[in-house]
Amino acid sequence: MPTYKAPLEDMRFVLHELFDSTSRAVLPGNTDFSRDLIDSILDHASRLTEDVLFPLNQQGDLEGCVLENGRVRTPSGFKKAYKIFCDGGWTAMSASPDWGGQAVPISVAMMVDEMLCSSNVAFALYPGLSRGAYVALSHVGGENLKEIYLPNLVSGKWSATMCLTEAHCGTDLGMLRTRAVPKEDGSYGISGDKIFISAGEHDLTENIIHLVLARLPDAPAGVRGISMFLVPKFLPKKDGTPGPRNGVQCTALEHKMGIHGSATCTMNFDNATGWLLGEPNKGLAGMFTMMNVERVAVGMQGLGIAEVAYQNAVLYARERLQGRSLRGPKAPTKPADPIIVHPDIRRMLLTMRAYIEGCRAVACWVGNELEVLQKSDDIDAKLMAEDFSALMTPVVKALFTDLGFEIASLAVQVYGGHGYIRDHGVEQFLRDARISMLYEGTNGVQALDLVTRKLPHDRGRLLSRFFGPVVGFIEQQSQNRVLEPFLPQLRRAVEHLQSATSFIAENAPSNHDEAGAASAEYLRLFGLVALAFVWTRMASISAPRIEEPGHRGKFYRAKMRTAQFFMDRLLPQTGALLAAIQSGSKIMMEFEDTAF
Ligand SMILES: Cc1cc2nc3c(=O)[nH]c(=O)nc-3n(C[C@H](O)[C@H](O)[C@H](O)COP(=O)(O)OP(=O)(O)OC[C@H]3O[C@@H](n4cnc5c(N)ncnc54)[C@H](O)[C@@H]3O)c2cc1C
Repeated sequence: MPTYKAPLEDMRFVLHELFDSTSRAVLPGNTDFSRDLIDSILDHASRLTEDVLFPLNQQGDLEGCVLENGRVRTPSGFKKAYKIFCDGGWTAMSASPDWGGQAVPISVAMMVDEMLCSSNVAFALYPGLSRGAYVALSHVGGENLKEIYLPNLVSGKWSATMCLTEAHCGTDLGMLRTRAVPKEDGSYGISGDKIFISAGEHDLTENIIHLVLARLPDAPAGVRGISMFLVPKFLPKKDGTPGPRNGVQCTALEHKMGIHGSATCTMNFDNATGWLLGEPNKGLAGMFTMMNVERVAVGMQGLGIAEVAYQNAVLYARERLQGRSLRGPKAPTKPADPIIVHPDIRRMLLTMRAYIEGCRAVACWVGNELEVLQKSDDIDAKLMAEDFSALMTPVVKALFTDLGFEIASLAVQVYGGHGYIRDHGVEQFLRDARISMLYEGTNGVQALDLVTRKLPHDRGRLLSRFFGPVVGFIEQQSQNRVLEPFLPQLRRAVEHLQSATSFIAENAPSNHDEAGAASAEYLRLFGLVALAFVWTRMASISAPRIEEPGHRGKFYRAKMRTAQFFMDRLLPQTGALLAAIQSGSKIMMEFEDTAF
């Protein structure tokens, strides 16, 4: 049986020590969020995830969801857990107090998200989608709709979905066909079929709110003709409680590779009553407010699964006895040494650890900037935070989820053949991790977004929000002797990223395929530099504390060693990625289609 223990010590380290928590505390609305309160939120979340959600994870995978007479039954225990989740106020965590929320700092909420995804990513999807819908509705919804729907989403009484995908259009939403016909009372009749809709139907809440992309009769073709509609499963009565059934049905459940506890539904809208959200034909922009929240959240799915996979791999590596250490027996009284003595096992464990702790630190960095964007009164600070988070959203989504899958795969490798067998539960992590690279825009699409939209934006303005602090830190710390083993590697990696950026800037305008061909490697290179930056900062904080007595000293020593491992064994990939990028698109694009 797999186990899970929330990594609270590392979460507290990134939240309180790595980043200046006082700058978070002075933001409007944040004064109550003292260090003690934040720690208490993390403690409560750890108990919820370890004791309530994680025990349902394996069973939820085995049972999956069942569709009967148009109703979807979630796995045993999900309903009770969802009630505990709502009663604990977790659905209200990031919402505004205006609608019954708690406005918990975003970086703290992201750590809670990580725990939710480590413990039970299939369960976490249900409230996760409601949070995205809350954001979209609060941005573009009219006051009357907000008053009916937002408090119910925040309390968790009602949940939400995002309905974009149709059988013939996933990435290319410009082709979508679902129609919206205006009615005399100001509402719309929505008709069409959507596929792959997460949480489209289930038994956890009394109502489900679908945010649906559809076309008005006179809409222009393509993405400029898409509008967003709110379509409830039950039409609310005057008193706000669920009334008559609307014309929306789940017609099938997808049978899929992982996240079996999450209901992935085919939905039919048959002249269902809906209300326009935002302006006609501007639905994609409205939906993107939801998708940007979801993209960061999906990134946290990658991190969450990576953490639980790592923890189990470490435990197994300590227990499994196979072979002897290359330098002579380490456990001579036993028939063999534990596999943790083998360099290859240690390489895998340290690779997992270095990526996980690095991603957690990057997540906190991005979360703090999102917090400034949401709560600051300072217009300039807000603009900078907006630029930074726009730049980092595709990086967090794609880097974290690519690594989540790679790390889950490494965990299987540490277990050997036993990792491939169901009993240990690690193969579930690998299966559950795979979807996060696909939905909310595939990782290929994230990389394209980074290279074709974010990089050239306003002649590199967004990019400067990243290079500014990184280059500034390198200059500021150039005399810091403690960082001598780190700064040259960080500097070299930044140079690789700058060269890759210049290559794309010079070549893509005359041949757009150059941007596409470079995009996946560029995103990984970018991510590695972001990780190197946070690792160097973590080293600068940890170095003076390695002699602290007891457990704390051990924590900081482990940080220093993991930082060194990242710099020496993982960061050098930037050179190879740069070489691949500079080789250009020709080799791929001139390969004859028929020769594949
Ligand atoms: C379990 C699950 C849950 C989901 N939940 C939801 C949900 O709640 N709501 C919802 O609306 N959708 C949902 N989806 C759909 C998901 O978002 C899409 O599957 C995804 O966006 C990709 O679309 P597609 O599958 O049609 O792939 P396609 O768009 O057909 O893409 C196929 C391949 O082509 C690549 N590609 C496509 N276009 C380009 C391009 N222009 N340039 C370069 N490469 C390109 C893609 O990266 C991909 O590798 C879910 C899917 C699954 C499997």
